[in-house]
Amino acid sequence: MLSYRHAFHAGNHADVLKHYLLTRLLTYFNQKDKPYWYIDTHAGAGCYQLDTGFAARNAEFAAGIARLWNRQDLPEGLAAYVDLIKSFNPDGQLRYYPGSPLVAKHCLRPEDKLRLFELHPTDFPLLEENMAGSGRQALLQKGDGFAGLKALLPPPTRRALTLIDPPYEMKDDYGRVVDAMEEALKRFATGVYAIWYPMLQRSDSQLLPEKLKQLPVKSWLHASLTVHRPRADGFGMHGSGLFILNPPWLLHDELQTTLPILAKALAQDIGASFQLEQLAG
Ligand code: SAM
Repeated sequence: MLSYRHAFHAGNHADVLKHYLLTRLLTYFNQKDKPYWYIDTHAGAGCYQLDTGFAARNAEFAAGIARLWNRQDLPEGLAAYVDLIKSFNPDGQLRYYPGSPLVAKHCLRPEDKLRLFELHPTDFPLLEENMAGSGRQALLQKGDGFAGLKALLPPPTRRALTLIDPPYEMKDDYGRVVDAMEEALKRFATGVYAIWYPMLQRSDSQLLPEKLKQLPVKSWLHASLTVHRPRADGFGMHGSGLFILNPPWLLHDELQTTLPILAKALAQDIGASFQLEQLAG
């Protein structure tokens, strides 16, 4: 059962945190000459129109990317992320929001490669359409991203960033993420892995970062944003986090500056806050 459609959530607070961090991770990757792979196990449709269709229904982007759109005072890394989104909206009106594959494609150099997985029968052809023109730089597969990742590791370049961004609509996604990471680290211990997760009032979401901390890596970075107080009825996502295995070591310092700015900009009530922790190897 695949009922999740990312179009409903495009450009929301969770996309802002995830895609800002994605641009920063890729910027650090670009500092070395050696080519690398960007692997996206749950790629989505690739690009979303905000002023019509699913994205317009709840307009989640209004409390996400739209809050940063006219800011002139953002630090360099955050401003670069907003500029990247602006490049998809050349007339200055926020109408299109790129998903992780297009955000990544924008950051990659010609010699770097994208390996994208998407399972949804409607989103996969959209992804193909949105990635058209990538030539041999991008390889798209309609299939299970967890199995696909296992088959790709280790990558021939011995350098790769993997984004793992499941919908978690099925409870077993939490366990599959941990299993996939255990397997991935056995095959390619030095890879960088970024795992997105929703902050919910259910134990499997709360326990996921704790389980990821038990993985056999020398360093990790855990950044999360709470945008409002948990709802009294126990439902809904009140924030999200990104757990990064083998992160670039300078990222933590940068996030000490940018996460407070994001927490303030994306706040929906006085419960908004950020959390930043790391294991520095
Ligand atoms: N990474 C995208 C971005 O940041 O723009 C958003 C991805 S969305 C949160 C999750 C996607 O995973 C959905 O498009 C869903 O159809 C897809 N999906 C669900 N289960 C999958 C699986 N086992 N393998 C690959 N894709 C899957």
